[in-house]
Amino acid sequence: MNFLYNKNGLVMWTGKVIKSLRYIPDPILLKKTQKVKKIDLFIITLVQDMIDTLIFTKGVGLAANQIWIPLRIAVIKPFSNEKPLVLINPQIVKKEGTRYLEEACLSIPKYSGKVKRSENIEVKALDLDWKPIKIIAKNSLITQVLEHEIDHLDGFLYIEKMK
Ligand SMILES: [Zn+2]
Repeated sequence: MNFLYNKNGLVMWTGKVIKSLRYIPDPILLKKTQKVKKIDLFIITLVQDMIDTLIFTKGVGLAANQIWIPLRIAVIKPFSNEKPLVLINPQIVKKEGTRYLEEACLSIPKYSGKVKRSENIEVKALDLDWKPIKIIAKNSLITQVLEHEIDHLDGFLYIEKMK
């Protein structure tokens, strides 16, 4: 066992925790998530577990409701050599253009389909220090992953957007 104590007596698990994924037709995937109200040890641990789970499953993004936590948190890692990006309470504030892209989802195994997506989006979120972050994603994999994960947090699956 691998625990860490700080001076307030809080304990933190420092080993990797791989959460079990929720698959369709689990109703949690179709429910809008709740906004995070503050960053505490629960949220920090949850985010670390989400990152470990995302890396373990070799996914490009994970929303908290995919591991049965109904909170507005997503982690994305579109490129395997880059650090994951943590998004607390993300919102798309601007969308431009249309494109049709092949998509898949960790919660819908062995399936993929063409989905209507935006070309460019602007996302506002908070980081783990509760600082606002803004992401402008133009016509890239990041644009698609952000839209996919924010859809999850709003209770939508990509299969509902297929033509
Ligand atoms: Zn997904």
